[in-house]
Amino acid sequence: MSLIVQKYGGSSVADVERIKNVARRVVETKLQGHDLVVVVSAMAGETDRLLGLAAKISDAPDERELDVIVTTGEQISIGLLSLAIQQLGHKARSFTGAQVRIQTDTAHTKAKIVSVEVDRAQQALREGAIVIVAGFQGVTAEEDVTTLGRGGSDLTAVAMAAALNADLCEIYTDVDGVYTADPNVVPEARKLGKISYDEMLEMASLGAKVLQARAVEYAKNYGVPVHVRSSFNSTQGTLVVQEDAEMERVVVSGIACDRNEAKITVLRVADRPGIAAKLFGRVAEANIVVDMIVQNISQDGTTDISFTVPKSDFPKAMQLLNGVAQEIGAQQVEGDDRIAKVSIVGVGMRTHSGVAARMFEALARENINITMISTSEIKISCLIDAKYGELAVRVLHETFGLAERNVVEDRA
Ligand code: ASP
Ligand code: MG
Repeated sequence: MSLIVQKYGGSSVADVERIKNVARRVVETKLQGHDLVVVVSAMAGETDRLLGLAAKISDAPDERELDVIVTTGEQISIGLLSLAIQQLGHKARSFTGAQVRIQTDTAHTKAKIVSVEVDRAQQALREGAIVIVAGFQGVTAEEDVTTLGRGGSDLTAVAMAAALNADLCEIYTDVDGVYTADPNVVPEARKLGKISYDEMLEMASLGAKVLQARAVEYAKNYGVPVHVRSSFNSTQGTLVVQEDAEMERVVVSGIACDRNEAKITVLRVADRPGIAAKLFGRVAEANIVVDMIVQNISQDGTTDISFTVPKSDFPKAMQLLNGVAQEIGAQQVEGDDRIAKVSIVGVGMRTHSGVAARMFEALARENINITMISTSEIKISCLIDAKYGELAVRVLHETFGLAERNVVEDRA
């Protein structure tokens, strides 16, 4: 007998019929003789609806109160799913994040997990119940309710799997798995049989929405095997696991396009030690994550610094930087939120050369201008005009031959 953690996303519990469907699938797994912990998200659209209500009252709502509001979404789902399972004649017990208990720091709306206690969950499992856990939420040492960032139910599932030493963490969603590119953009995109944690982490950070990036990081740190699959059929999905030798043979395994960033340029700042530290220090204090950074060569003792931030933090960042710019004597702050970041990802890049050149040539052939470039060991990203995002993805998918069967079968 094994212990399985299953997570069902918002679209899988979008209405009562779908919740009943999830209940049937859960019971099926239970009947195969497994112990089962099920993590659920809020019903599709519910979190956005709740955030919308808050936005009608305040344009800069207090984040502690936002967490109080949005955590109700998952609380509804766990109660309904428990009922649906009980209705099928099986034992189920629901738990909120505070009850199970997932303790976090106090960074409301994007709290980090500090510890996971599983006594109550284990007790319920021993009593033969299916344990239903509210995703996305935790609690601080002072008993304040927190959330783990958008898409945070994935993290709840992985954290429960790690704490319970589960055999597998299954993430059920509305797509069949992880594809070489978004199939809505590239019809020839192919499903990957498996992908390494590092590649998945890059893909997730780049906006491939199938898994929350923080959840992938957590899975990697604790070695939790994750299976991403559809809740609407029973086909095999994509396994997210430790890298193996086979994966290295493929240079590029996926193409991503992230439209969730905005670019900020601070013009003509003094080119002397401490300026960048001050600027980015203030951005970090505001809990804004900076991604790409470019500093130009200086002219007459001043320079321009450009960087990207999440679009959701763009207004806050612009306001903050206008203040900082005055303090450090910068000339002006410019912002642009019509940008896209296209990236190629693959562990094979570590051992293959000339990959960047092929990427830039492909974009150049389509006359797509690159405004910023960033790289990691297994990723190359280019910032471009948002209107060329889809074209860039298609061109790169073609250039690196990702549609070809053999490439993908290598990974299966
Ligand atoms: N309901 C939350 C969200 O919409 C968490 C999740 O779905 O994972 O972001
Ligand atoms: Mg999700």
